Amino acid sequence: MPLYEFRCTKCGAQFEELCSAEARPGCPKCGATEVKRLFSAFATKSGGEFRSSTQGGGSCAGCAGGSCASCH
Ligand SMILES: [Zn+2]
Repeated sequence: MPLYEFRCTKCGAQFEELCSAEARPGCPKCGATEVKRLFSAFATKSGGEFRSSTQGGGSCAGCAGGSCASCH
Protein backbone atom coordinates (compact mmCIF):
# COMPACT_ATOMS: atom_id res chain seq x y z
CA MET A 1 0.00 0.00 0.00
CA PRO A 2 1.36 3.42 -0.86
CA LEU A 3 2.04 6.12 1.65
CA TYR A 4 0.04 9.24 1.03
CA GLU A 5 0.33 12.65 2.56
CA PHE A 6 -2.80 14.52 3.49
CA ARG A 7 -3.64 17.98 4.68
CA CYS A 8 -6.71 18.76 6.70
CA THR A 9 -8.68 21.61 5.17
CA LYS A 10 -10.24 22.42 8.54
CA CYS A 11 -7.28 22.82 10.86
CA GLY A 12 -4.39 22.64 8.38
CA ALA A 13 -2.70 19.64 9.99
CA GLN A 14 -0.55 17.52 7.71
CA PHE A 15 -0.30 13.79 8.20
CA GLU A 16 0.67 10.64 6.37
CA GLU A 17 -1.39 7.50 5.97
CA LEU A 18 -0.83 4.14 4.41
CA CYS A 19 -4.03 3.65 2.49
CA SER A 20 -5.55 2.93 -0.87
CA ALA A 21 -5.72 5.61 -3.55
CA GLU A 22 -9.41 6.18 -2.98
CA ALA A 23 -9.28 6.38 0.79
CA ARG A 24 -9.79 9.65 2.61
CA PRO A 25 -8.78 9.17 6.22
CA GLY A 26 -9.97 11.51 8.91
CA CYS A 27 -7.77 14.18 10.40
CA PRO A 28 -5.97 12.81 13.48
CA LYS A 29 -6.14 16.20 15.15
CA CYS A 30 -9.66 17.48 14.68
CA GLY A 31 -11.37 14.43 13.18
CA ALA A 32 -12.55 16.22 10.07
CA THR A 33 -12.93 14.18 6.91
CA GLU A 34 -12.34 17.15 4.65
CA VAL A 35 -8.75 16.28 3.85
CA LYS A 36 -6.78 16.90 0.72
CA ARG A 37 -4.29 14.40 -0.62
CA LEU A 38 -0.87 15.79 -1.43
CA PHE A 39 1.90 14.35 -3.50
CA SER A 40 3.99 12.04 -1.39
CA ALA A 41 7.41 13.39 -0.64
CA PHE A 42 8.66 9.82 -0.48
CA ALA A 43 7.87 9.17 -4.12
CA THR A 44 9.95 12.09 -5.34
CA LYS A 45 12.84 11.44 -3.01
CA SER A 46 13.16 7.74 -3.77
CA GLY A 47 12.90 8.27 -7.52
CA GLY A 48 16.14 10.20 -7.77
CA GLU A 49 18.80 11.72 -5.67
CA PHE A 50 18.74 15.22 -4.32
CA ARG A 51 21.16 16.53 -6.90
CA SER A 52 18.43 16.23 -9.51
CA SER A 53 16.81 19.27 -7.92
CA THR A 54 19.90 21.38 -8.61
CA GLN A 55 19.67 21.03 -12.37
CA GLY A 56 17.72 24.23 -12.76
CA GLY A 57 14.21 23.59 -11.59
CA GLY A 58 13.24 21.22 -14.39
CA SER A 59 11.57 18.72 -12.17
CA CYS A 60 8.02 18.90 -10.98
CA ALA A 61 6.07 17.40 -8.11
CA GLY A 62 5.28 14.36 -10.22
CA CYS A 63 8.84 13.22 -10.85
CA ALA A 64 12.37 13.66 -9.63
CA GLY A 65 14.27 14.00 -12.87
CA GLY A 66 12.41 16.66 -14.82
CA SER A 67 11.46 14.29 -17.59
CA CYS A 68 7.83 13.43 -17.05
CA ALA A 69 4.90 14.62 -19.13
CA SER A 70 4.06 17.52 -16.87
CA CYS A 71 7.58 18.92 -16.96
CA HIS A 72 7.67 19.62 -20.65
ZN1 LIG B 1 -7.92 18.75 11.13
